[in-house]
Order: sequence, then structure tokens, then C-alpha cells
Amino acid sequence: MEKVLRDGFIYMSQNKTLNSLAKKYGLRFGASRFVAGEDFKASVPTIRELNAKGLSVTVDHLGEFIKTVEEANTNRDEIMRAIEIMAEEQLDAYMSLKLTSLGFDISDELIEDNMRQILTVAQRVGVFVAIDMEDEQRCEKTLELFKKLKSEFDGLGTVIQSYLYRSEDDINHLAPLKPNLRIVKGAYKEPATVAFPEKEDVDHNYVKLVKLHLANGNYASIATHDDHMIDAIIEHVKENNIPLDQFEFQMLYGIRVERQLELVRQGYKVRVYVPYGRDWYGYFMRRLAERPANVAFVLKGMVKK
Ligand SMILES: Cc1cc2nc3c(=O)[nH]c(=O)nc-3n(C[C@H](O)[C@H](O)[C@H](O)COP(=O)(O)OP(=O)(O)OC[C@H]3O[C@@H](n4cnc5c(N)ncnc54)[C@H](O)[C@@H]3O)c2cc1C
Repeated sequence: MEKVLRDGFIYMSQNKTLNSLAKKYGLRFGASRFVAGEDFKASVPTIRELNAKGLSVTVDHLGEFIKTVEEANTNRDEIMRAIEIMAEEQLDAYMSLKLTSLGFDISDELIEDNMRQILTVAQRVGVFVAIDMEDEQRCEKTLELFKKLKSEFDGLGTVIQSYLYRSEDDINHLAPLKPNLRIVKGAYKEPATVAFPEKEDVDHNYVKLVKLHLANGNYASIATHDDHMIDAIIEHVKENNIPLDQFEFQMLYGIRVERQLELVRQGYKVRVYVPYGRDWYGYFMRRLAERPANVAFVLKGMVKK
């Protein structure tokens, strides 16, 4: 039953007609539990509330199904505006973005130019930017662009996925750049030719990669909701006297809120990934696919409207 629900939500997340309808009707069906607002200004009160609870934030501008240069540039402008507002409002927040929403699949020049414009603004106002990692076919090019831009803009990070066989080499290869890397398990469906098919191996590699990145002396953003991962890393940092300012935990907005606050109480830095934007539909469906128990919220939301 869980698998049927999961596949159904993954299928719905990719349906363009439903996506356009969702955009037209606005944040509904309990989506506000996972998405802060349809524009950045509307998301500011949520970010402030999180900051007041001791949680840092990374904001993610949702933008999917990009086909034209105009759409990519509209997303770029929106991201630059949000970065400026973040600085003006003195929020404890930084920006996460997906290269596909800025024209990654349109042309190399476009994506590099859009990234340079964003990073120029971000550097001027002192806001950090993280490049999310998408599917494996885009990994090599994403890391190449990251390396190129990181040598010019210091406040830039990216993501490494523990389900990929290549990730250990990537961490070692990137180490001399002293990058802030977010380490995740990986959210895309990948073949066994490039990714560990067994969850056990993905989990084992997760802890191994975090330890490796810390041992290289670099800053780790440990992004997981999994207690086994979190507990193993806490044990490791205590045993090895890793300073508290060399890592942080990250979780998604609306997920495991109690654990987020508990980590803050224990003195750890925790950053919440807060998505916003009119393109909330695909993100929301993927959260439901990840954990069909969340469907109860949707049903309640539907009854209320
Ligand atoms: C801040 C952040 C940024 C991310 N960025 C990227 C990215 O750039 N690229 C990418 O590919 N992926 C990204 N991801 C997604 C990531 O790859 C995983 O798909 C996702 O985090 C699920 O894996 P997990 O480690 O949380 O735990 P899982 O292995 O999915 O679950 C393990 C356990 O964690 C707990 N848990 C997990 N989810 C929930 C939930 N919804 N509610 C309650 N308990 C739960 C349960 O106890 C579960 O048994 C990001 C995740 C986070 C938190």
C-alpha cells in the first residue's frame, strides 16, 4: 500500500497540468506545513519565527519545469531580490538554489551568467549560497561549475549525496577548496550502475562521508532526519573533539520539528530548509511520497477548505 501511494505521489509530482492548476489556485491542501509562502516577503514571518527559536534557515526558491530563457531569468531575479531582502531584514538565513531552475538545461553560458549575477549580489550583501544537487546525470557539470565559481566567490557551497559511488572521491577532490558541503543521502531514483541500491549501504556511506569531510578539516552541513545518522555523528564529534563551529545539522521545514529544537537545546547549530514560491506543488508531492503518513494532513486540509 505504501509503495502504491509513494509511486502515485511521485507520478503526480511530475504532472504538468496539476502543477499549473496548483499555481493558479495557490498554496492549498496543507502544503503550508512544508512551504513557507508563495513569495519571499510572505515567507519572512516564518523565517523570523524559526530564528527566534534558535534555528538558522536556508531558503529555497521553488522553480520547476523551466523551458525558456525568460523563465530562467525570472527565477534569477527573484533569487537576487530574496537575497537582498534577507540582508535588509537581517535574517539568519542563506539561499539554496537548483541550477535547473536557472537554465542548466538550456545553455552553459546562461547558467554561468545567472550564477555570477546571483553571487555578485550575494557577496555584496554577505549572504551565503548553496547549490543543491539534482540527479546524477547533472552531478559532474554541477561540481565543475561549483569549482570554477568557488575560486571567485568565497560564500558558495554545494551538496554531496551518499547514495552515489563517486561521492568519496568528490569529497577528497573538493577538499583543497575548503568547501562547506551539505551531505545528504540523495533524493532521486538512480540506477545501480551509479548509486548504492541498498539503504544499508547508503546509510553506511553517509556516516563515512561526514567523518571524512570533517577529518579533512572542512565545514559539514549534516542534512538528515535520521536519528541513526545524527546519533552516530554526535558520538563521533564528541570522541574526536570536533569543534561545534565546524558543522551544523539541517532538516526540512515542517519535518521532525521536535528533534530540531532538541538539538538546539543541546547546543548544536541547526538550519531549517525553507522552500517558498508559486511552484510548491512538485515539492509538496515529493514530501507526501517520502512519507505517506503526511497524507492525513492533506485530507484534513481538503475537508477544511
Ligand atoms: C536540508 C536538506 C537539504 C537537502 N538537499 C538535497 C539536495 O540538494 N539533493 C538531494 O538529492 N537531496 C537533498 N535532500 C534530501 C535527502 O537526499 C533525502 O532524500 C532526505 O533527507 C531523506 O533522507 P533522510 O536522511 O532524512 O532519512 P531517510 O533515510 O529517508 O529516513 C530515515 C529515518 O528518518 C526519519 N524520517 C525521515 N523522513 C521523515 C519525515 N518526513 N518525518 C519524520 N521522520 C522522518 C524516520 O525515522 C526514518 O525512518 C535534502 C534534505 C535535507 C534535510
